[in-house]
Amino acid sequence: MIRNGHDLEPGEQLNADVCIVGAGAAGITLALELSRQAPDLSVLLLDGGTQPGYNPDPPPREVSPGQFLYEGEMEGDMNTIRPRFLTQTRSRSYGGSTNCWGGWCRPLDAVDFRGHRGYRGWPITREELIPFYERAQGFCSLDRFEYDDPQYWVDRAARSGRRLGTIPDLPDDSVRTVCFQGIRDTRWSFFQDYHDELDAAPNVRVVVNASLIAIEAAGVRPGDPVDRVNRLRLRALDPDTGKPGVEFSATAGRFVLAMGGIETVRAMLLSPTANQPGGIGNNADLLGRFFNVHPVVSDAALVRFGRGTGWPAAVNAFYSSETRFYEEGQGAPRAEHHQEVQPYEGHAVNEKRFAGPQADPAAYTRVWATLTPTADALDRTGAGNFRLILRGGSTSTKVDVNWEQVSDPENRVVLGDRVDAFGLRVVDLRWRINPADQQTYAIALSLCEAKLRRAGYLDEGGSFQPLFDISDRGSWHENLPNPGDHHMGGTRMDDDPGQGVVDSDARVHGTHNLYVSSCSVWPSGGWANPTLTIVAMASRLASHLLAGTGAGHTLRIDEATLPDRAPAAEEAA
Ligand SMILES: Cc1cc2nc3c(=O)[nH]c(=O)nc-3n(C[C@H](O)[C@H](O)[C@H](O)COP(=O)(O)OP(=O)(O)OC[C@H]3O[C@@H](n4cnc5c(N)ncnc54)[C@H](O)[C@@H]3O)c2cc1C
Repeated sequence: MIRNGHDLEPGEQLNADVCIVGAGAAGITLALELSRQAPDLSVLLLDGGTQPGYNPDPPPREVSPGQFLYEGEMEGDMNTIRPRFLTQTRSRSYGGSTNCWGGWCRPLDAVDFRGHRGYRGWPITREELIPFYERAQGFCSLDRFEYDDPQYWVDRAARSGRRLGTIPDLPDDSVRTVCFQGIRDTRWSFFQDYHDELDAAPNVRVVVNASLIAIEAAGVRPGDPVDRVNRLRLRALDPDTGKPGVEFSATAGRFVLAMGGIETVRAMLLSPTANQPGGIGNNADLLGRFFNVHPVVSDAALVRFGRGTGWPAAVNAFYSSETRFYEEGQGAPRAEHHQEVQPYEGHAVNEKRFAGPQADPAAYTRVWATLTPTADALDRTGAGNFRLILRGGSTSTKVDVNWEQVSDPENRVVLGDRVDAFGLRVVDLRWRINPADQQTYAIALSLCEAKLRRAGYLDEGGSFQPLFDISDRGSWHENLPNPGDHHMGGTRMDDDPGQGVVDSDARVHGTHNLYVSSCSVWPSGGWANPTLTIVAMASRLASHLLAGTGAGHTLRIDEATLPDRAPAAEEAA
């Protein structure tokens, strides 16, 4: 059942076993996992946005009225390169930013789980995530979990009569070719794909237009240093006036914050407790720190291939563009994809409508190849991970560089001075491209040049010409370097409360029953688009929440469950 928060009774209290705040990729995955695996568990899924237009009978669609609540303040480089970063790179709507995403998916590499510059990496390995990546493939309507063997896709395409391209022979082992998979056009946003299932699920209640305004938590007994979240306070926007409307609340056994990498941090900073006066989860002053994105410089370099050594057209095709191929016997999907872009200061929301019957989503696969360094090469250079995007013709190509930022505690989300419509302090994003990022960028280009030179592509008059000097801030302007649309760090994961905001189960340190499901928990971010990993991690969290609940699946907190996290009385004293 889906309801609008403004239609609830003022002061109404909703209750469930698990309450998830935020219905983007993470929140929807978690709700689906819990709902499917534990039909006797009650799930409350709350979202601060409203529903975008919905097939088959869309209302006049506009950007979610709550989008302006994403406005905030920024300090540092973001003001130069993406002044509207806070409103342009996320969508406050049911389905979250999957309503405007590109749908490109790739898991993190094993090397992405390492730490940087003395800061610790992930407390879990990629290997442990594999079963959840496999599940994430399903949630994202993707094909086989195969990203590192491009030959698999070349052969697969060939079997269905398509030429995917040729993997070039690039001697030595510093750079390798890897693949992305794209969400099929027929499966566009998590909202579109899972609206009906969540609406019909008897154990799930969805409330849109339900903005979290406060997390209320306290120790269970006097002197208990570990907090239990008792209640969330929520507020709707009045659809007629756009001003604050009905206020209501939610109680649950377990609460999960899945509001994206920035709002999750903000909500926690806005919720101090007696035990955690700097905000829930912030006793080590780590909340909001290590925020990072995936910067990209387009046209970083121009490659002119030497006479007679040109980049063969088939190789060019392999790197330059997405390839979609249909399985044998399957035609192209009949559905017509209609993409409507509505600006909110440049923010876009995609909408699709089907003119015909919906195509079989299993009919085709989108694949795209890119170059990335090997783990050995990264170890040798100490750089962040990166990818080289080659696009162009057979005589010349442009190179884009998309890279991982190394850990920087000064890149952070804090609270600003202004307040939003609910009277809550807005976010203040302090972010810069630091010297280590500039080094990663330089290493990426030099590795690219060396690789092409060794392979002979620059012989006989070829050249490699850098086009952008990242160390010259004076040459930066809007969208260059582009910070991308991904918001990581901020609630980093570490089992030591002095080193992280959440533990390796994603439970917020200092709390019994509060979890985070977002790429804000990633200690390092790699360069791959994050959603596949966000979905895998949400699936992993579902498995943690369900483990040990026994037949009844009750996730209600009761006194008997508390001592496992609360220190003994004498220790607390
Ligand atoms: C233009 C664009 C293109 C992208 N392309 C790709 C791509 O190709 N591949 C890829 O992997 N990723 C891509 N992304 C990123 C991807 O969309 C995000 O990684 C993903 O949506 C994050 O999922 P999430 O659930 O963590 O957060 P979100 O999707 O941001 O969902 C958060 C939800 O929380 C709700 N919310 C926020 N604040 C509150 C509050 N106070 N109270 C209640 N609810 C609240 C929001 O309404 C929203 O529904 C793209 C993003 C953009 C903007």
